[in-house]
Amino acid sequence: MRLWGRATILRRMLCLWLLLLGFTLVILLLSDFFNRGGIHSLQKLGPPRRPFQRFRPPDMEVIVDSRDPALQLGVDLAPLKSLQEDQLLFVPSSQGSKSPPQKRANYKVLLPAANKDATAPGEGDPQVHLEELEKNLQLRYGFNEGFSGSLHRSLPEVRSHGCFEEQYSESLPLASVIICFHDETWSTLLRTVHSVLDTAPNQFLQEVLLVDDLSQHGHLKSALSQYMAHLEKVRLIRSSKRLGVAGCRTLGAARAAGEVLVFMDSHCECHKGWLEPLLERVAQDRTRVVSPIIDVIDWETFQYNATQWPVRGVFDWRLDFYWESNPQLQDKDPDMDNKPVQSPSLGGEVLAIDRHFFQSVGSYDPGMLLWGAEQIELSIRVWSCGGSMEVVPCSRVVHLNHHKLPYTFSDQELLQRNKIRIADTWMDAYSKIFYRRDTLAHFIRQSESPNIAERLQLKRRLGCRNFHWYLTTVYPQLYIPQDRPGLSGELYNVGTGSCADYSRGQGLQGGPMIIAPCSGTGSQHCDLNFEGEVRWGPMGALCLDAKLERVVLSPCPILRPTTRRLQWKFIKLSGQLVHQQSELCLEAVKEGGLLQSRAKEFNTHINTGSLFLRPCTHHNRQQWYFEQLVTPKGA
Ligand code: UDP
Ligand code: MN
Repeated sequence: MRLWGRATILRRMLCLWLLLLGFTLVILLLSDFFNRGGIHSLQKLGPPRRPFQRFRPPDMEVIVDSRDPALQLGVDLAPLKSLQEDQLLFVPSSQGSKSPPQKRANYKVLLPAANKDATAPGEGDPQVHLEELEKNLQLRYGFNEGFSGSLHRSLPEVRSHGCFEEQYSESLPLASVIICFHDETWSTLLRTVHSVLDTAPNQFLQEVLLVDDLSQHGHLKSALSQYMAHLEKVRLIRSSKRLGVAGCRTLGAARAAGEVLVFMDSHCECHKGWLEPLLERVAQDRTRVVSPIIDVIDWETFQYNATQWPVRGVFDWRLDFYWESNPQLQDKDPDMDNKPVQSPSLGGEVLAIDRHFFQSVGSYDPGMLLWGAEQIELSIRVWSCGGSMEVVPCSRVVHLNHHKLPYTFSDQELLQRNKIRIADTWMDAYSKIFYRRDTLAHFIRQSESPNIAERLQLKRRLGCRNFHWYLTTVYPQLYIPQDRPGLSGELYNVGTGSCADYSRGQGLQGGPMIIAPCSGTGSQHCDLNFEGEVRWGPMGALCLDAKLERVVLSPCPILRPTTRRLQWKFIKLSGQLVHQQSELCLEAVKEGGLLQSRAKEFNTHINTGSLFLRPCTHHNRQQWYFEQLVTPKGA
């Protein structure tokens, strides 16, 4: 009996051990899978990675140009508030003669000559060695991008004539250009660095600070270190933690020595004379944050698109950012060709800001995750807390617009969380307008609260103004939706079971309305206001309009009262939406023979049908409901 008992216990223990072993194996496999998935999700074009490459802790190092003593002594090692000190490690220098930058206990500094790799070019003419190095890399990583030729490419001259007569002060503050990168393509990254070195006047360039945000691509490891070690004024900092855009830039800023910080994406090319106009504007007013005009090179076609002036940065009620060309500016100045234009927001591509102002206004929000909306947060904060923003037309930088890999769901959620921080920190009661147009954010917000106590404290400490002030003073062009219950939300059609929709790709100029499956995301939100306009889209700048019998969207008029053609009346009892001028009713028409021919006429894609004006009947295709999807708190 006792023997039997012991055997059972032994057998049970064995089972337990086996179970534990199995469980550990599953956890290991899962973590491996997620590690790889996470890396893939934001990965950009680059050399093919070896299959099943395991995550390896990166070599952490900082390179300081050994030929520039000022850099070694002048590195500002201000204490990092938002980052852990142990996120950085500097590899020791063998050049004992020169005093290394101020050391903190867990930092070391690597000087380029310390590199012991015998095959690495380190002496003699740096240009020859760079070419050699590139060739080696080409063999090693199989690049087909053609290096040297393309590293210094000339750009078409697109500045206005007035710009060539502009005079800039000879004693401008020095700039630290901070370039964060995560798995950037080799040639693109190098072109960015070279283009800064080629165009920034030596006397105004303190340094180029490359900050590696935990890249995984092989070529961005020691090969990049070797390459950059040969470039004067270039420093490379590596983070051992993925910081995201905001965190990475904050790290760069904390290490920068220049008076003015210039944040730049890792896929840019600078026009001649881009830096001086920016520095001049910041020097004149240290609370001014400035951006060049951002021209665009398409990643795939390499087509160069010069951005039309005037241009300014704006965002919509979903907190998505746009550059808006030829905006309806209040004070149109005939002489504005080379005068800066104030901008409610600035894109993050290139941004110049006084270093002290950047720190005092709260740098980037350390709670911002990986990517997205951090520039909107900075913009609202700068304006609300005593600064200003503008686009400077005599400065132009090109940004390579890449076609993003589709975001995985979790990346989307990260972006939503960033937006929630903005809404809850800065938008006061206006945040409801955001949550109605972004239901995913609403649901995330319902289950968790952002940790924004410190940011709210900062806001109080700086005496920042409220969002109402921002809307009325800085960005009065943004339509403020009324969102009345029963008269706003998704416009649901009973007859077809679909919702009124508009393909965003058609742009801000408007186009035909369609019906499509109801998205439930808030992207189909519209707002029938007191004036009778049905305002569409996250900007609320497009109005439901009629072209003959076809229902379209067109830009809403700025002047009040609105035009009669844009006025609609909703009859709650019957669900009819009546076009005031024609007294016809809005009808959803599913795809059919007639419709196909109409579709061609209007040159549109029809998913499930279109919207027409028809004599009013009680058919359920003319029966509509405004469905509010969410009720944000306090609404
Ligand atoms: N970046 C980074 N860490 C990240 C994501 C992006 O350092 O987690 C860098 C990226 O390499 C680029 C800049 O931040 O230099 C802005 O990112 P991206 O160009 O993807 O933004 P976009 O221009 O598309 O808004
Ligand atoms: Mn970019």
